[in-house]
Amino acid sequence: MKRYLKFIVVGIVGISLIYGVSRLITPKVEESNDQKTVAEKTATGSEKEQKNDDLPDVSPKDWSLILVGPDDPLEQDISSDQLAYVPNTNMQLDKRVIESYQQFSEAAQKAGYPLTIISAYRSINYQEQVFNGRVAQFENQGMDETQAEEKTKETSTEPGHSEHHTGLALDIVDEGWQQSNPQNVLEAGFGKEDSAKWLAEHASDYGFILRYPKGKEDITKINYEPWHFRYVGKDNAEYIEKHELTLEEYLDQLNEK
Ligand SMILES: [Zn+2]
Repeated sequence: MKRYLKFIVVGIVGISLIYGVSRLITPKVEESNDQKTVAEKTATGSEKEQKNDDLPDVSPKDWSLILVGPDDPLEQDISSDQLAYVPNTNMQLDKRVIESYQQFSEAAQKAGYPLTIISAYRSINYQEQVFNGRVAQFENQGMDETQAEEKTKETSTEPGHSEHHTGLALDIVDEGWQQSNPQNVLEAGFGKEDSAKWLAEHASDYGFILRYPKGKEDITKINYEPWHFRYVGKDNAEYIEKHELTLEEYLDQLNEK
């Protein structure tokens, strides 16, 4: 009986070793020959791994995927020669995304929604002025400094933590909405407008994503903002939209690859 057991154990160890070594030797060949076979072999059938099948082949460190937010500060402003004005506006963006935005804007106009940019690139310095201005306002209303800062953070990003510093993000609404809501242009109710629906639906065709979707606040740490769009490039945007991801979740997938 003991001998039997020994035989079985040796057998199992032997088979595992051969299997392990063969996988070490051959994966490169398998990958290049037939990606799907490898994916099927390694997939446990979970939805997540099936989603990875069409994951774009891009580095998570690509310039278009830079992550700036409440937990991820941008330490240094981008250089001014990286920026350009969006034609016919006083708004600046990273010059690599101007053309894509122009196409997005033209398509929106054709669909009946001429766009207006509320905010685009913001320097860290400018954000500091805005932020400190609001803190001072709350202090004048009787709050102490800590209270005033907490209150300000509810609606305004801390300097260095705004995605607007990247030159890849912009706040847009259609002119109709702006005219009917001049006091509350950036208001969640905009999301119910046909124009906002059109923007969310077509952004990825031009390389943009709705950066802070409804229901993902615990991941983005930012409230739903139907006006805030972020350039990530067309392939990335299409994947993110198809799988209903945030930039954070997409970067996780790329890092796990
Ligand atoms: Zn914004």
